[in-house]
Amino acid sequence: MSENVADRTARGDGRRPDELRPVRFQNHIAPFASGSTLIEWGQTRVICGVTVEDSVPRWMKDQNVAGGWITAEYSMLPYSTLQRKPRDSSKGKIDGRSQEIQRLIGRSIRAAVDLQKIGQRTIWIDCDVLQADGGTRTAAITGAYVALSLAMAKLLAEGRLSENPLLNPVAAVSVGLVGGQPLLDLRYEEDVAAQVDMNIVMTAAGEFIEMQGSGEEATFNDSELAEMIRLAKAGVRELFERQRQALSAQDACSLTANRPTSPAY
Ligand code: UDP
Repeated sequence: MSENVADRTARGDGRRPDELRPVRFQNHIAPFASGSTLIEWGQTRVICGVTVEDSVPRWMKDQNVAGGWITAEYSMLPYSTLQRKPRDSSKGKIDGRSQEIQRLIGRSIRAAVDLQKIGQRTIWIDCDVLQADGGTRTAAITGAYVALSLAMAKLLAEGRLSENPLLNPVAAVSVGLVGGQPLLDLRYEEDVAAQVDMNIVMTAAGEFIEMQGSGEEATFNDSELAEMIRLAKAGVRELFERQRQALSAQDACSLTANRPTSPAY
């Protein structure tokens, strides 16, 4: 990124347009989970916990589908936002936004795993937002992969799995157009001002799992899209490195995916 481009945008927190907020993982935050981590991504913090159940959903049994299943739940804790957010349980129905996000997390994490190799099991990924400052879904996906790797390492160590089911590291990042400028990793303040907001989920092999992009009373053209994708690819490359460090810091977590962890792009 040239200095002139960097100078053009004054981000509230002083970042360059292509700069991620600091990302840290605090593993084993929930000791009763099979794998867990607290991902701290700037001021956004999400607890990701993985639980493994030795059964599969009813629809899989009914349709005789082999292998296992991975499903995700997402919620924002009431005190994760400046204004208290009531729990879904107090309203008696799940928030549409939460539903959309948890399905995205499930799809993303299923791309990380060979479902045949987990056997007749259901893996629950629970993502609870402790603090929200934009990018909670991308933090949830990026943290969920770390929690999942910890859980798979535990199952292998216990002999409950005979083969490593991880195929691909998975991470996600947001990008957007703010004041006409493509920016990586939007904070809340930037997210509300954005004309275009995108969430991009990728594998470490350089493949896309999902792209969600929309103009807010605005449009975007080919070259802006290409620049946002370029920023996102560089961002996820950095996230894969953070995940790798978080997983190699502890012996019990040295499980690596079957495909290369260094981005192939
Ligand atoms: N947000 C909030 N209350 C809500 C939903 C969102 O305060 O009920 C804030 C929060 O900071 C969140 C940001 O708005 O991170 C952007 O929300 P969005 O729906 O775009 O999802 P995210 O960027 O968190 O994945």
